[in-house]
Amino acid sequence: MAKINISFFIPHVGCPHKCSFCNQNSITGQSKIPHSEDIKSTLTKALREIDKTDRENTEIAFFGGSFTAINREYMQELLSSAQPFIGEGKFAGIRVSTRPDYIDKDILTLLKDNHVTTIELGCQSMNDTVLSANERGHTRQDVINASRLIKEFGFRLGLQMMVGLYKSTPEIDMYTANEIVKLLPDEARIYPVVIMENTRLGDLFKSGEYVPFSFDCAVELSARILSLFEENGISVIKLGLHASEVVEKECIGGFYHPAFRELCESEIYKKEICQMLEGCGRKVNKAVISVKPELLSRVIGQKRSNIEYFKSIGTEIRVVQNNRQKENVRIIETE
Ligand code: SF4
Repeated sequence: MAKINISFFIPHVGCPHKCSFCNQNSITGQSKIPHSEDIKSTLTKALREIDKTDRENTEIAFFGGSFTAINREYMQELLSSAQPFIGEGKFAGIRVSTRPDYIDKDILTLLKDNHVTTIELGCQSMNDTVLSANERGHTRQDVINASRLIKEFGFRLGLQMMVGLYKSTPEIDMYTANEIVKLLPDEARIYPVVIMENTRLGDLFKSGEYVPFSFDCAVELSARILSLFEENGISVIKLGLHASEVVEKECIGGFYHPAFRELCESEIYKKEICQMLEGCGRKVNKAVISVKPELLSRVIGQKRSNIEYFKSIGTEIRVVQNNRQKENVRIIETE
């Protein structure tokens, strides 16, 4: 069953860092800081609106900043306001996102006592040179230590990584993905870099010091990371930055696309079909591919990109739907 989040954004509050890519106000699309009354009124309304059977899959989520770095009084205010809405017949617990260097046993005990169920860590890269070049203010080892502690305390662990940061390469990003797999997170988010106005990354980009790799490379790489995570049982709950008017207005470069995940999934099916055609052991001029109906648009690709790709390498593809097949994609005819 799909997870539901009732999200509250805590924009940049308490965060003493200024990561190269971060413009929290733009990313969250708002700058108002929620307080107890906002939390209570939103959750009261949500309890009325969310069906009882869906509530056990619903978490109250504090996103947008570094939750465990905000001052204790405000953190406690947020956690306390949510408590009356957690428990039997109500919501499952609380989800927070934070930084790896603001995790220790004390804070995890506090979160456990306040029904936090999931902790997401922004690790972004597992390469210390990339972390330092992007002014993250933590190291690879901090991510490892924090992840282990979170799992020892019995929380669900989510890890977030970025693709294409300043000073990174496709090889370094794949290394990061493999290191994340070793930390056994339950879920992950993959964020291809979006360069925003009023960020250090934006300045580096404008000066020519930071040259991101190509959009196609970012899609291909993110698709490989998506496959790697899914093969290892890690649920990828987000791929690409959430579409918003603010992001679209303030994005000056990088890899923003409102349907980035779909582009990656199309890339995965393209590769799968390539392998199936190669498996025929001869040159295939025409092929009929049968797919589950819900996958049709991904297999064809946006603006028929996959069909056009195969045409460009001399294979004409026709795609048909079959709602009874077990495989996602299979070849049913070749010439
Ligand atoms: S730690 Fe998070 S909130 Fe703080 S600057 Fe970096 S990305 Fe922004």
